[in-house]
Amino acid sequence: MNIAIIGAGASALFLSALLKNKCDITIFERNKKIASKLLASGNGRCNMLNIDACANDYNNKEFMEKLFKKVNTKDILEIFNNMGITTTIDSEGRVYPISLSSETVLNVLLDNVVADIEFNYIVAKISKVGSKYQINDYNKLFDYVVLASGSSASIVEAKQDLCYSYLKSLNLSLNKLNPSLVGFRVKNSLKGLSGVRSKVLATLYVDGKMIHKERGEAIFKDDGISGIVIMNMSSYYNRTNKRNAYITLDILEGLYPFSLKGALAPKMYLYVTENGIDIHSFRLDIIDTYGIKDAQVINGGVDLENITDTFRLKKDKNIFLMGEMLDIDGVCGGYNLSFAFMSAYIVGSELENENKN
Ligand SMILES: Cc1cc2nc3c(=O)[nH]c(=O)nc-3n(C[C@H](O)[C@H](O)[C@H](O)COP(=O)(O)OP(=O)(O)OC[C@H]3O[C@@H](n4cnc5c(N)ncnc54)[C@H](O)[C@@H]3O)c2cc1C
Repeated sequence: MNIAIIGAGASALFLSALLKNKCDITIFERNKKIASKLLASGNGRCNMLNIDACANDYNNKEFMEKLFKKVNTKDILEIFNNMGITTTIDSEGRVYPISLSSETVLNVLLDNVVADIEFNYIVAKISKVGSKYQINDYNKLFDYVVLASGSSASIVEAKQDLCYSYLKSLNLSLNKLNPSLVGFRVKNSLKGLSGVRSKVLATLYVDGKMIHKERGEAIFKDDGISGIVIMNMSSYYNRTNKRNAYITLDILEGLYPFSLKGALAPKMYLYVTENGIDIHSFRLDIIDTYGIKDAQVINGGVDLENITDTFRLKKDKNIFLMGEMLDIDGVCGGYNLSFAFMSAYIVGSELENENKN
C-alpha cells in the first residue's frame, strides 16, 4: 500500500514515523527544507505539546471533545518518549525536549521516518486515476493521499496561497483565514512606548461582553501591542463578531505605589503621565489583528464539515486531512502542535487498519 503526503511538516513527519516500514510513503514538500515551523516553535525550543490540553483550548470544542475521547496529549508524549526524546514539562503543562532544542525533536523524528521526500515540489493538483491518485504529473500513482500542508501563517504574502491552492482540484473550499496568535493594531497612539515590556492583567471585551482575561507580559509597539498574553487574546477575538473590541491592561495589578515614577519603566511613566492614563485600566481600542505574515497560526481553513471524525474526506474516504490546514486552532502553549500530532495519530491508526485489511 502506498501513500502520498502533501507537506513535510510536524504532522507529516509524526505520521510517517508511526507508519515506519508499514507502508510505502512519498512526501511532497514545497520547500528545500522540512519542518520549518516545528523548528521555529517555542523560539527554537519546541513547545511540542501541552499535557493539560483539552477541548476548551480550541476554537471548535465539539470536534475536539470527540478527538480527546480517542487520543490525548499524554498518549502522544508517551510515543515521543518511546522514540527516545527525553522531555521536560513546566508548571503550565508545556512540554519541551529536555535539550530545549527543536532540532532534537526533528532529528529523532527523522530517525523514525522511512519515506521518499521530494523537496522543492509544490503540489498544485491532485487527480483521480481509476481508484488511485496522481500528484501533479508525478510518475507514480498512490492508494491514499494525506493532506498536511499546514497554513499560510507566518508566510510572506506572495506565497500564502501555496498551501491551499491544490484544494481546488478536490473541490474543497476554505473558511475565512484569520491571523491568530498575533498582536493587535490599536487606535491609540502608542508612540513613546515602543519596545516597552510590562507585566499586565489583560482583559478582552467584544460587543460589550468580557471575553477573556489573562496575566502575562505585554510588549508595546508604535501602533499596537503584542506578547504571548496578547497573542492568546487574538485566538479568543477570532471566535467573536469582533465589534467594538478593546483590551484593558491592569499594570501593577493590586499595587498603588505612592510614586509611579519609582514603580514604572521610565518610558511607561512618561506616557501615562502625559496622557492621563489610569495604569489599572489602560484601555486599548482594537482596529484589528496584525496580518497573516505575523501570525503563528491561522484561524480558519478547511471546514470540519468536510471530514469524518477519523479525518477522512467524506466524499472520498481514501483522502485524509490533518494538522493546521483544518479549521482548528488553539492558544499558545503547545496546543497547536498537540493538534497536529493528535490528528496524525488518528490518521496513522486508520491507515494501519487499512493495511491489515
Ligand atoms: C513562529 C512560530 C512558532 C510556533 N510555536 C509553536 C509552539 O511553540 N507550540 C505549538 O504548539 N505550535 C507552535 N506553532 C504552530 C505549529 O508550528 C503549527 O501549528 C504546526 O507546525 C502545524 O503542523 P502541520 O503539520 O499542520 O503543518 P506544518 O508544520 O506547517 O507543515 C506543512 C508543510 O507543508 C508544506 N507545504 C505547504 N503547501 C505545500 C504544497 N502546495 N506542496 C507541498 N508542500 C507544501 C510546508 O512547506 C510545510 O513544510 C508555531 C508556529 C510558528 C509560525
